[in-house]
Amino acid sequence: MVERINTLVIGAGIVGLATAKALAEQGRDVILLEKNPHFGEETSSRNSEVIHAGIYYRPGGARARLCHPGKELLYAYARDRGVAHLNCGKLVVAHDDAGIGKLNAIIENAKASGVHDLELIDRRKVAELEPGLVAHAAIISPSSGIIDSHGLMLAILGDFENAGGIMALSTPVESGRVTEAGIEVDCGGEAPMTLLADLVVNCGGLHADKVAHSITGLDRGKIPPQRPAKGEYFTYAGKAPFQRLIYPIHTADSQGVHYSRDLGGQARLGPDISWEAKLGDYSVNEEKREVFAAECQKFWPDLDPSRLSPGYAGQRPKTTNPGEEGDFRICGPEEHGTKGYIGLYGIESPGLTSCLAIARFAAELAAKAT
Ligand SMILES: Cc1cc2nc3c(=O)[nH]c(=O)nc-3n(C[C@H](O)[C@H](O)[C@H](O)COP(=O)(O)OP(=O)(O)OC[C@H]3O[C@@H](n4cnc5c(N)ncnc54)[C@H](O)[C@@H]3O)c2cc1C
Repeated sequence: MVERINTLVIGAGIVGLATAKALAEQGRDVILLEKNPHFGEETSSRNSEVIHAGIYYRPGGARARLCHPGKELLYAYARDRGVAHLNCGKLVVAHDDAGIGKLNAIIENAKASGVHDLELIDRRKVAELEPGLVAHAAIISPSSGIIDSHGLMLAILGDFENAGGIMALSTPVESGRVTEAGIEVDCGGEAPMTLLADLVVNCGGLHADKVAHSITGLDRGKIPPQRPAKGEYFTYAGKAPFQRLIYPIHTADSQGVHYSRDLGGQARLGPDISWEAKLGDYSVNEEKREVFAAECQKFWPDLDPSRLSPGYAGQRPKTTNPGEEGDFRICGPEEHGTKGYIGLYGIESPGLTSCLAIARFAAELAAKAT
């Protein structure tokens, strides 16, 4: 038997949860399907938990458009719902005059994306703010911070359920088809079923392209292929030495191995970027210890490599190639031509920061998609 429903969201990571909440709050009947036994077990719990300021991304691109407002929405939501977070700020450091040119370019880029609070500071001010940190100059980003990602997901799930939404765990979407009456989706798990939805929103993270390919009738040429880019972390034993997050100058496809800390004060280094890993490989290569230490000793000379332990790893769903700048691909019917379907692909960093803005945008698209 096929059960008719209004809205189906596939994938209960932070983006699927936020999108399901936004759609339920629009008054839709929403079912959120997750293949794992718990929500948020994939990329949403394998990241740096940094609230990004939105300073690096190509002005006008989706990441630039969604990160800065997403940050504002996230701080407001976290304050309102009591989600643990800290507006600790961040420094992006340069080691020579050429680096200062790049810092100025970041400041200009940020302004073009609506972020006007960056300040260039000199070596003395750096040492004053963060004793033990060595840099020729730095940008200070006062609006950057950290957040408890699991607490955030729990709060959003609570709001989703309060708005009448239902989450089904251990319920993988296996196949589907576009029909005249809507989109049919076949779910596996202990109680296999087929649902017929007016609106399907694919928030499948690393698997979003595979989910889309499993639905016949979607234009395959319009499904961006994704590839995982793995990032590994090392944790640092002992007191976190810096209050702020410390980043090197970014490259096109990565923000570089940086220093961050969690809300409990645990310092960590990472993530690096590797394009060769298999999907779902979350191992951490202990032999990278010296490389991570050397990267961070450029700004933290007292770092003791023997205090580094393998931490965890995550994978970014990239729709671009190594060395290229990626972007979110949030596709409604105007882009792919199928009524009732919205696909979210390439939701890499800053997807956590942007989740509420992505959800708001997806909900706006939903109004046009059905
Ligand atoms: C190393 C790393 C560091 C990062 N650091 C930051 C950061 O500091 N700040 C920031 O803003 N962002 C960061 N990000 C990005 C951020 O973590 C992601 O953008 C965000 O978590 C993506 O959420 P999501 O819900 O799209 O994906 P996911 O969390 O992966 O959720 C997708 C869900 O879909 C489910 N699913 C897949 N297929 C199916 C199916 N067939 N049926 C049912 N369910 C399915 C999966 O099981 C999963 O639960 C980082 C990412 C990485 C990898």
